[in-house]
Amino acid sequence: PQRLAAGMETATVVVDGAEARRLRRVMRARPGQAIELFDGQGHSVEGCIHAVEPGRVVVRLEGRSPDRAASPEAGLRLVLLQAVAKSGRMELALEKATELGVHEIWPVVTHRCVARPDAGGQRVMRWRRVVETAARQAGRSVVPVVRPPVPWREALDRAGLLEGGWLRLLAGEKARLPLTRWLRERSPQGVSGAVVAIGPEGGWSEEETDAAIGCGFEVVSLGPRILRTETAGWLALALLQAWWGD
Ligand code: SAM
Repeated sequence: PQRLAAGMETATVVVDGAEARRLRRVMRARPGQAIELFDGQGHSVEGCIHAVEPGRVVVRLEGRSPDRAASPEAGLRLVLLQAVAKSGRMELALEKATELGVHEIWPVVTHRCVARPDAGGQRVMRWRRVVETAARQAGRSVVPVVRPPVPWREALDRAGLLEGGWLRLLAGEKARLPLTRWLRERSPQGVSGAVVAIGPEGGWSEEETDAAIGCGFEVVSLGPRILRTETAGWLALALLQAWWGD
């Protein structure tokens, strides 16, 4: 949409490939229907379906940004460091994190990861498709970035490079301090983003937790019950959104 800003009233765009198929078969697109297009990087524009043809849907743009009560993008920047989990669980974790407004997902390979990323990068491609579908479903204008998996140490170094009001939290099932209490009693002012680390099905090793603490992470509990890795991420993100985001 941004590229089409000049003379957008008369611009038409052609949607093809998987998106066109989805529009025809799933959304039952028909000429005359209103539609909203987004580029995945924060720009959305309203349009009207002009023609539905085999393999393509022609949309006439109306040059207006959608009129929403609130932006679907939360002010709080959220990065999820998710230990690579078994296929269905990982995808569930990424889908729900996207619905909850995550901005970036950094899959990490830890000592006790049962699942490993494949050498050909097929899993990363699949994760990106999952996140894109979830972002569309959630009405988001930004598709979260899914980075290629990296070892835990590398992810910690990368988290250390984030500057200016970033929180670093590691969810540890043996931690004594609940995140809810930490938020009430210790949360700092001027927070612009949070990095949240969630361990694999087998949990964190002691060395991994210590390394995170050494890099400025606070270790927090998500309550007295042990949650599945995919549930832990949702809960942490939801609590942070409730506190600082929207
Ligand atoms: N098998 C591990 C154990 O019993 O020690 C449990 C690992 S749990 C299924 C996977 C990850 O979810 C953990 O590494 C942690 O990041 C997070 N998690 C699960 N329950 C949690 C809790 N109650 N508090 C904090 N983190 C939790």
